[in-house]
Amino acid sequence: MIPIAKPLISNEEKKAVLDVLDSGIIAQGKKVKEFEEKFASYINSKYAIATSNGTNALHIALLSSNIKKNDEVITTPFSFIATANSILYTGAKPVFVDVNEDDFNINVDLIQEKITKKTKAIMPVHLYGNPCNMKALMEIAEDKNLILIEDAAQAHGAEYNNKKIGSFSTSCFSFYPTKNITTGEGGMITTNNERIDNIARMIRDHGSNKKYYHDILGYNFRMTDINAAIGIVQLNKLDEFNKKRIENAIYLNNKLNVKGLILPKIKENTKHVFHQYTIRVTKGFNKTREDLIKILTENNIGNAIHYPVPIHKQKLYQDLEYKDKLPIAEKLANEVLSLPIHPAVSKADLEYIASIITKS
Ligand SMILES: *Cc1c(COP(=O)(O)O)cnc(C)c1O
Repeated sequence: MIPIAKPLISNEEKKAVLDVLDSGIIAQGKKVKEFEEKFASYINSKYAIATSNGTNALHIALLSSNIKKNDEVITTPFSFIATANSILYTGAKPVFVDVNEDDFNINVDLIQEKITKKTKAIMPVHLYGNPCNMKALMEIAEDKNLILIEDAAQAHGAEYNNKKIGSFSTSCFSFYPTKNITTGEGGMITTNNERIDNIARMIRDHGSNKKYYHDILGYNFRMTDINAAIGIVQLNKLDEFNKKRIENAIYLNNKLNVKGLILPKIKENTKHVFHQYTIRVTKGFNKTREDLIKILTENNIGNAIHYPVPIHKQKLYQDLEYKDKLPIAEKLANEVLSLPIHPAVSKADLEYIASIITKS
């Protein structure tokens, strides 16, 4: 089986974990601090705050930006549900803007018409590791006085105009095992805003910055030193991992020139880090997506649909009476199919994947 995702853990990570276990300090301690400093330095952000997962990184980032009940936050319907749910947790309302057909990211031209008096923030997602149009997003945010909080959970190491995603505005990363690097479970907020850094650290730790003195409502969203030790080793390998993902994606792009399959594009001035390699199986292809999935699975090729149901169509959001019609997201949900390109996929694997798809 060629799995769709695979965490790459070597002896280095194992040794780092054992060292932490032997040290006697296993919850948040100096390894978390070291991971934060190294991550901020890699991204080129002023601050980085480690959390226990990507979802609560988003939640903390919103709370630190004072997003609350009756506010509206503009976001994409074509993402993992954590994006929009983090907005719901604050009591604010996610407002969905349809995506671009060519890069699956929020369509910046449609944002304007969804802005109301209640709009406080925009939360774009760099889906599959492909950077959003940051220039346009920064302009809209500035022009309309909105906060920009980026969901960069799939975009570790991605770049826009030679600057790392995570360095533009407050951004949130995930280290879930399928992501470009992992800590088991884990998350990170990057920001250049000192006030956000201060509040985020408090919210992560029950609203406290002095032990047993609690100024605001917070949570236990801390990362452990065990997770951070894995993250420090993984961060050293991130560029190498991404290089392999990009090579694998380009290799498949060159092999899968088949009628009816739309392949991912790499835009000018961006570094796409291919968290996922996601093709579109359109009507012009000689099989349905379901038939292709069956053939891949029968031939031991892992595959997945990211995502089969746009967020506004999920039962949770239907129950919240979301009536949006977002035709591009709805169409893409019926066409997308992700194929394995993670760093453990070999040239022979790619050759095999391409041969199965092109002869099918
Ligand atoms: C993985 C992911 C998250 C959530 O991260 P967790 O670490 O799983 O909580 C949020 N948004 C997107 C786009 C993701 O892919």
